[in-house]
Amino acid sequence: MTRKTNFYAGPAALPLPVLEQVREEIVDYHGMGLSLLETSHRSSEYDEVHNGAIRLIRKLLKVPENYHVLFLGGGATLQFAMVPLNFLGSGTCDFTLTGSWASKAYKDAKKIGTVNVLYDGADKKYTMLPDSLQPTPGAAYLHLTSNETIGGLQWHSFPDPGQIPMVADMSSDILSRPIPVERFSLIYAGAQKNLGPAGTTVVIVREEMIERCPDTLPAYLSYRTHSENNSLYNTPPVFGVYIVKLVLEWIEKQGGVEKVALVNEQKAEQLYSAIDSSDGFYRCPVDPRFRSKMNVVFRLPTEELEQSFVAESKKQGMIGLKGHRSVGGCRASIYNATSVEGVATLVEFMKDFAERNG
Ligand code: PMP
Repeated sequence: MTRKTNFYAGPAALPLPVLEQVREEIVDYHGMGLSLLETSHRSSEYDEVHNGAIRLIRKLLKVPENYHVLFLGGGATLQFAMVPLNFLGSGTCDFTLTGSWASKAYKDAKKIGTVNVLYDGADKKYTMLPDSLQPTPGAAYLHLTSNETIGGLQWHSFPDPGQIPMVADMSSDILSRPIPVERFSLIYAGAQKNLGPAGTTVVIVREEMIERCPDTLPAYLSYRTHSENNSLYNTPPVFGVYIVKLVLEWIEKQGGVEKVALVNEQKAEQLYSAIDSSDGFYRCPVDPRFRSKMNVVFRLPTEELEQSFVAESKKQGMIGLKGHRSVGGCRASIYNATSVEGVATLVEFMKDFAERNG
């Protein structure tokens, strides 16, 4: 079998050694005579997977002691609701509207309480991030989306809201670079880009935030339930957590998040320079200061050319280069598991395509 070069935005490329190990272990996990898929989440075998994955997240992201690492279901979308349900109460929270995902989180928060918009990038078509923010005094939290997967823009440095807790959706760039966890009160991420299977969700939450969770919430919706039960109140997404653990081990083998970040820089640099040196054949609409190192978005001179670009690239084994249906254009998602060689192949193809069609 020839594997494709995978540029899907999510679910996205997983490291091949991880997939191969899963194939190896799927029927008989570590000689148990059972698959992990059919093993109790209270078993010692699963316990090792669950706590091993938590330990690795703590280690790789240097998570301070006073934070819980949780595994939930429901994807990042459930967090759009859980964050306000747990922390907003009768107060207000602050939002930065930087693209489709921040806007979706905002819409859910608004259903639950009062939200102040500190920045709305809609009029600039979400191609910029704010240089500074004026948080609302006493706000319950400030929410931001560290990487906008559809618009292709990323916070390379984070705002400082002072005493106001900062909450971040890091679904599409968690573990792609070092992050100052101690500056955030809560980080959440759906797994399907840099971590593992869709549905599985990682939450990293500061202990003192747990005190704010109202007792009136149904059990699953409360962070307290999950932190008090080490994410084993109900059946966690066991297979997802297992794959996340393997991906984390793979990241560790690459040299950790710092090393992976260097490779990610290199891949993004290759692609953006191919775009910027194409004499305008390819255009990235995002302000260069805020371009994403995970999702590189670009346009071609016409939509017809974009369609043939996607079709031809597909024929050459490159998959997932069509932009999100809401914005069109092209997008190369280059998460941790996309190799430098894969990106080099795309860059070659881009040059060749521009020469033939420019
Ligand atoms: N936030 C961001 C930044 C995303 O990219 C996505 C999914 N692409 C989501 C949230 C929603 O995640 P899920 O589909 O896991 O609910």
